[in-house]
Amino acid sequence: MRITALAGGVGGARFLRGLRAHLDAVSPESELTVIANTGDDISLYGLRVCPDIDTLLYTLGGGIDEEQGWGRAGETRRVQDELAAYGAVPQWFTLGDLDLSTHIVRSQWLAQGLTASEVTGRLATRWGLPEQRITLLPMTDVPVETHVVLDAEDGSQQAVHFQEWWVRLRAEVPASRFVVAGLDRAAAAPGVLEALRSADVIVLPPSNPVVSIGIILGVPGVRDALRGSQAPVVGVSPLISGRPVRGHADACLSAIGVESTAAAVAGLYADFLDGWLVDPADAGVRVRGVETAVHSEDLLMTDVDATARMAASLLALAERVRK
Ligand code: GDP
Ligand code: CA
Repeated sequence: MRITALAGGVGGARFLRGLRAHLDAVSPESELTVIANTGDDISLYGLRVCPDIDTLLYTLGGGIDEEQGWGRAGETRRVQDELAAYGAVPQWFTLGDLDLSTHIVRSQWLAQGLTASEVTGRLATRWGLPEQRITLLPMTDVPVETHVVLDAEDGSQQAVHFQEWWVRLRAEVPASRFVVAGLDRAAAAPGVLEALRSADVIVLPPSNPVVSIGIILGVPGVRDALRGSQAPVVGVSPLISGRPVRGHADACLSAIGVESTAAAVAGLYADFLDGWLVDPADAGVRVRGVETAVHSEDLLMTDVDATARMAASLLALAERVRK
């Protein structure tokens, strides 16, 4: 079986780790291809940082800080403290010492002329993803950056990098819209459209529908590949009772004028979605043209076992809706 997933950072990575654990138990030969959001990417101190890809690498490769959900376990911050002593900015984005090695080697390889896909492939090898039958692809090799347009009190508008809004401003300043620089010129990375076309099942983990999944869907050709897919497309709600489990998906949804409900999120995918898995708290949710299933437990990814059960429910739903 070939499964293809679209993913952001923490929500996507945790779900996919559970999915891989479930597949290892029931179908170890199956192949998992992950198409990662790169709209969160940012250049800091001259280094290229890809937060969602790094969270996927560390989570699937066993190096994640479990409590935080991002960054490396056992991390220290000596380099960034030293950078602060030099007055280097910004300081609002944390880069630990172990994590910095990823950004250094990525930046070196990019400077040598490797593509983002090639660099991601090398990083994935270090984290043991090929042995787990996981292929990690950036959505595009073209640098793309999500910016957030904020309304100032004097009526003027200011655009800031997504990370600055999310991390420094904690998404507390209302966003008026998102602008994704470079997306119109971005071709899907090698293998991305093929992985969607050849999949037996396409999975949407509970990633942020606007700034993770929504950005990947904006890569030319991706949405059409999903619409034209013969394989069932099934997803997990990132919202429970109208609230994101973590992060600020509600602030993102409000910026694009969409309600914060499990049904409204599925509505964003209604042109290609076949099945939608919701929490028992959202039982009764209806989305036109989409088969909704209620997971038997809370849709909380508390540990790998609970997440594997959730993934099993999602794959069972995919079989029910197979065309
Ligand atoms: P990010 O890039 O690190 O923000 O991560 P993603 O975009 O992949 O995922 C963020 C989304 O994951 C948020 O909207 C959360 O609501 C959702 N999420 C996080 N943990 C859980 C969980 O345990 N269960 C569910 N259903 N959603 C979750
Ligand atoms: Ca992200």
